Amino acid sequence: MSKYSIYVLEYSYVANYHLSGIVYGAHNQGYRKLPYCYALIMSDDHVAMIDVGYNHKEYGAFLGDKFGVENWRSPRTVLAEVGLTPEDVDSVFITHAHFDHLGNVEDFPNAKFYIQQRELSKWIWAMSLPDRMKWMMVAVDPSDILKAVDLARQGRLVCVDGDMEDVLPGVDLRAAFDSHTYGSMWISLRNDLAAQSSDRWALAGDLIYVYENLEGDGSAVGLDKIYTPVGLAVGSTTNLILTTEEIMKSVGYETRRVIPVHEERLKDMFPSRITKEGLRISEICLASGQSSLVR
Ligand SMILES: [Zn+2]
Repeated sequence: MSKYSIYVLEYSYVANYHLSGIVYGAHNQGYRKLPYCYALIMSDDHVAMIDVGYNHKEYGAFLGDKFGVENWRSPRTVLAEVGLTPEDVDSVFITHAHFDHLGNVEDFPNAKFYIQQRELSKWIWAMSLPDRMKWMMVAVDPSDILKAVDLARQGRLVCVDGDMEDVLPGVDLRAAFDSHTYGSMWISLRNDLAAQSSDRWALAGDLIYVYENLEGDGSAVGLDKIYTPVGLAVGSTTNLILTTEEIMKSVGYETRRVIPVHEERLKDMFPSRITKEGLRISEICLASGQSSLVR
């Protein structure tokens, strides 16, 4: 029995992103397509998103342009491909506050949002620092932080402090403090709902961008493959490696059960189709009794 269908929905992409920004220390190794996506988990009872993308206007458009984002589409357009509207979404798990993950909360009027309280409070701290220290604010839209605070005012924000089990049935939130960001989190999904699940998925946020972060070039230490951190961290690379071990352990060290949303090769790993807008939908797994939306 599988409770949830899981999809990764592309909503824009950077056609040529420098690999050194994706894989730590991969200097002068060229460029790669970097899809921007959110994940969708659906059961008979819930429609939940993991991250919400960004809105290509105002400072969001500035950041999108700076990162070279192309072909941005709204959640209404993207979700229509799987027969949903943004209003259908009841829960949103924000892995971290970078603009391409948090920047579109206003498009989901009926959702309750979950974010680590450390992620919010530390970005408020970072915003208060003098301009000369604003490197930390790279990829953060301050207005996204204000919108998250406003969700709290509306009674639609859960500020999570560390790990949280069964936030929806079978869905566990896992904190990874001072890693990619101050209060990053990833989602561990037990799709058979069992405590000792044999059907686990890890939705990694930006703790893992691409497969090289799980199986990177180990030649520097005389090995075949080693965990290699993502190319951007405000916390420590040590914490990224420790989190990678936790993520891999959670899925029995089965790489394909870790879902990196910036990974173009999801299309080779899972059934996928390209929409008329030129964006990819990858079907990670299907809930029992559901039929494919990509075939
Ligand atoms: Zn990020």
